[in-house]
Amino acid sequence: PDNNAPPMPWFGMDIGGTLTKLVYFEPRETNRRELDKETEVLKNIRRYLTRNSAYGNTGRRDVHLQMDNVQIRGRRGTLHFIRFPTSEVGAFLQLARSKGMADLVNTIYATGGGAYKFEEDFIKEVNMSLSKLDELDALIAGVLFVDAMNPQECYYWAPPDEHPADSVSYRTESVSDRTEAPPYSEAALSLYVRKPFDFSSPYPFLLVNIGSGVSVLVVNAPDDYYRVSGTSLGGGTFLGLCCLLTGCSSFEEAISLAASGDNTTVDKLVRDIYGGDYARFGLPGDLVASSFGQMSSADRRASVSRSDLARATLVTITNNIGSIARLCASNENIERVVFCGNFLRVNPLSMKLLSYAMSYWSRGALKALFLEHEGYFGAVGCLLHLDL
Ligand code: ADP
Repeated sequence: PDNNAPPMPWFGMDIGGTLTKLVYFEPRETNRRELDKETEVLKNIRRYLTRNSAYGNTGRRDVHLQMDNVQIRGRRGTLHFIRFPTSEVGAFLQLARSKGMADLVNTIYATGGGAYKFEEDFIKEVNMSLSKLDELDALIAGVLFVDAMNPQECYYWAPPDEHPADSVSYRTESVSDRTEAPPYSEAALSLYVRKPFDFSSPYPFLLVNIGSGVSVLVVNAPDDYYRVSGTSLGGGTFLGLCCLLTGCSSFEEAISLAASGDNTTVDKLVRDIYGGDYARFGLPGDLVASSFGQMSSADRRASVSRSDLARATLVTITNNIGSIARLCASNENIERVVFCGNFLRVNPLSMKLLSYAMSYWSRGALKALFLEHEGYFGAVGCLLHLDL
């Protein structure tokens, strides 16, 4: 153990536009001496965090993401992953105070816009100063660390019978030679399965973080990256539009509506315009030509369902992000595109759409990759700062 290490408890925090992510390092008790050193307050905090999976009304621990036997700053322990809506930061601070956090004068490494916005509140309520880190630095440090620690971290979606070589073999075909199912065929996508991807030599890769908004980064090495693009049409847009259009009130509800909906009653497809494929340029009839294009008709609006609207919103936002990612990847000559951020939480449909669209439109040249710890990398990156 490192005697210069900061005092426990060790947290990393990412206070985002929608969700606050908190990563807590639970040290393994290595011996009696260290056990005795743990103060009552520390012990209470540890027990409270690790024995519950819900905190207050809105705090949740993602138990399935817990990482055991992680080493940070010479200490072994377990990483716990906790989230709550950023709108509840006030309630979080009160809870933290009631658990005695204010007695432990210390610093939390924090990132995200909220690290600036709520800095004063942290000092006032719990006597904690926030040491602020850049969110993209933290994001990349977190991705690389978690991927190195967890062999299961990186995965992709593919048809169950796809051979690893298949995705390469159709690179040489032209679009019109292709025999695969057209994009967004529901049947094809629903069969997609999750497969592990070996991300041990990752560079260069494109990192697309889909949070409230979207950032696209080119990563050449751990300390060599830049932000190439982004869009304000992100996870926040999906949820905001879905709430407006369907009256739903949570992300989970929006996703489950979308899962049972049909966007073809909302969108105008190539076949709605051409009566079939636009063969000359290889555009299949099933392709969306105009997102929400049917909704200018009063009759169509009268018969559309909430779930169809949720589905169309999801498909619109997802495919737009997919197009931007694809253009960036081809501009930068990069083949691996890693998607992260909480928009992908409990959202296999978007992951499958992204996988299909990336591979289809690049004729197999691009691979969409995903990470199990979705939206927690910025918070992990903050925690790792303890390591410097
Ligand atoms: P940020 O740092 O901007 O808050 P995140 O990576 O945490 O970004 O992603 C936020 C997005 O994740 C939301 O816009 C929404 O699309 C989605 N999301 C997933 N789970 C939830 C949830 N429980 N509450 C709200 N949004 C959620």
